[in-house]
Amino acid sequence: MVKPNTKYKILDTKKITDFFLDVAFPKKCVVCGKLDTLFCENCQSKITFLRTQNCPFCLKITPRGRVCKSCGHKSALTGVTVMAHFEEPLKEVIHQYKYEFIKALKDDLAHLAWPYLEDFPKNSVLTCVPSSPKRLAWRGYNQAEEIAGILALQSGLSFRPKLLKRTSYKTPQTQLSRKERFKNVENAFEAKRNFNLKGKQVVIFDDLVTSGATLNACAKELRKMGASRVWGLVLARNR
Ligand SMILES: [Zn+2]
Ligand SMILES: [Zn+2]
Repeated sequence: MVKPNTKYKILDTKKITDFFLDVAFPKKCVVCGKLDTLFCENCQSKITFLRTQNCPFCLKITPRGRVCKSCGHKSALTGVTVMAHFEEPLKEVIHQYKYEFIKALKDDLAHLAWPYLEDFPKNSVLTCVPSSPKRLAWRGYNQAEEIAGILALQSGLSFRPKLLKRTSYKTPQTQLSRKERFKNVENAFEAKRNFNLKGKQVVIFDDLVTSGATLNACAKELRKMGASRVWGLVLARNR
């Protein structure tokens, strides 16, 4: 058998491809156009990070975004922690990530969200809101799963991206009123019953929260699998 010649390093084809891609399409900040970065430090410094958190339903200030007492009866969610205000430049970055397919922005977005995950117990399970098959085919990736995957690596939390499956997809939530949103996602998710979450705390990652209906519908299913607490973690609140 011919031994490989170890005198020469095997060429790293990925690095070479990246090099040519960088030459053909130089990396630049999606907000200001600064070269060699996708989201420059200066633009990142303009994000308004949340110092206080709110009940996801009535927006009353609560610790870490816990659901308040008066909203508790209708909620499967324990609370929702929100990273920042949904305004520029974050708004543009999320848009580019989701609708202009700049998938590599997941690294910057995960890096920014990471401190908001630190307060959760280390034995929590991290999951994400699933995409519908149609959305997944269109975008090519689940935007929430990509970021959650990096967050799991950084935090060491157990990552279970496929705990939930989207069973129906009616009207996109963005086209509906607050009340209609809850109705629209009712029974839109199904849990994988063979996975036991008994006594576990689960964190569901998503990019945005609006009415909280989607996260709540997911939480309902996770509770059926035995989860004792279900938190949402999102980049921003869009309302
Ligand atoms: Zn910039
Ligand atoms: Zn409330």
